[in-house]
Amino acid sequence: LHVTSPLAAAAPVAPTLDQSRYLTQVMRLKAGDDLLVFNGRDGEWRCTVAEVLKKGVILRAEEQVRPQTFGPDLELIVAVVKKARVETIVEKAAELGARRVRLVLTKRTNADRIRLDRLDAIAEEAAEQTGRMDVPAVDDPIKLDALLDGWETGRRLMFCDETGGAPAVSSLRDAGEGPWSILIGPEGGFSPEEGERLLSLPFTTAVSLGPRILRADTAAIAAMTLWQAAVGD
Ligand code: SAH
Repeated sequence: LHVTSPLAAAAPVAPTLDQSRYLTQVMRLKAGDDLLVFNGRDGEWRCTVAEVLKKGVILRAEEQVRPQTFGPDLELIVAVVKKARVETIVEKAAELGARRVRLVLTKRTNADRIRLDRLDAIAEEAAEQTGRMDVPAVDDPIKLDALLDGWETGRRLMFCDETGGAPAVSSLRDAGEGPWSILIGPEGGFSPEEGERLLSLPFTTAVSLGPRILRADTAAIAAMTLWQAAVGD
């Protein structure tokens, strides 16, 4: 179970009301029963059900069973596409180990309304299912120019360029060490000006994901998988 409260020995842990209902009504846990709890910071703990109250259950943290670990420093940056596809992309990013998902607004982005709370819930559920210890953060949409203006020194950018980049795995391998970000454009692709700016940046490796045009969610999954194959861990 993923909670937000801190996890320390003999500390009370208060899951949300929904989670409490799930624990008592679906899992049928009672006082004294054990379960595994993580919060993305303090590792994974064995907790016991201390009390079952109307307003929710109270758990007690007993012992840490897995220290906190974080996946590779891989960030997925994706242009805001149709809502359902953004939800798929967030789920797959969590499964494929991205540490963070950043939504970007480009010239040709027709931004659907983004429900960040829904995306966070999807990221959390996918993280739980994969057994990873951290939950990828999903950031508010940011304009591409602002993102590049504030680019973190030393972070490499895998720019997925459907107009024709270099072969992905070899170009990723050649780029060497460092934290990575993967950039996926909108259905309408990047504008020529955006493409030019991206290709002119020193930290960009423009890669092809093959000769066919992929949908943004397919491209995100393919790019993250190729990244894992080339440099991931
Ligand atoms: N403008 C394109 C569609 C863009 S697809 C068209 O011709 O219709 C959405 C995004 O997925 C692209 O901006 C790119 O980042 C990525 N993408 C799709 N296919 C790709 C490919 N074969 N190689 C690299 N990136 C690709």
